[in-house]
Formats: sequence, structure tokens, C-alpha cells
Amino acid sequence: MPGAHSAETEMTFTPEAQAVWDRVPDATRTKLLDDGFCTRCLHKRHFELVQGEIRDKELALIGKCGTCGGRVVRLIQLD
Ligand SMILES: [Zn+2]
Repeated sequence: MPGAHSAETEMTFTPEAQAVWDRVPDATRTKLLDDGFCTRCLHKRHFELVQGEIRDKELALIGKCGTCGGRVVRLIQLD
């Protein structure tokens, strides 16, 4: 496996989602990843980012709950 990346989970981003995500500052990213809603905990959780895509006017971040491993979706409104 080439590269020095040590990410445990492969992230799947669409090119459009990647372009948007690339422009998000680190501090904002950290905040967003602490603010997902876990569909299993039914609570706001920190999550591990797994997937990103654009849905209509929103960036959908899909991830794994840091507490239970359940599916977390965080939608970000785009201008
Ligand atoms: Zn959870």
C-alpha cells in the first residue's frame, strides 16, 4: 500500500463532496465531527468519517459513531 496514510477506515467521497470538504477549515471539521446524530444512540456523538456526498444543496457526511459504531449522518447546508 503506497503512501504514509494510516487511516483505519477508507473514506469514500464523491469528487464534489471532496471539493467542498477540502475547503472546510480544520477547526470546523473537528466541530462537525463532534456533532453527528447517531441513529442508534439517538444522541449527538463524535463520529469517524466514512463517506461524503452532495445531496441537493447539502453536503452529507456519513460516519461511524465513536460510542456504539452505529451509523451517523451529518448534513451541512451549502450556499
Ligand atoms: Zn451511537
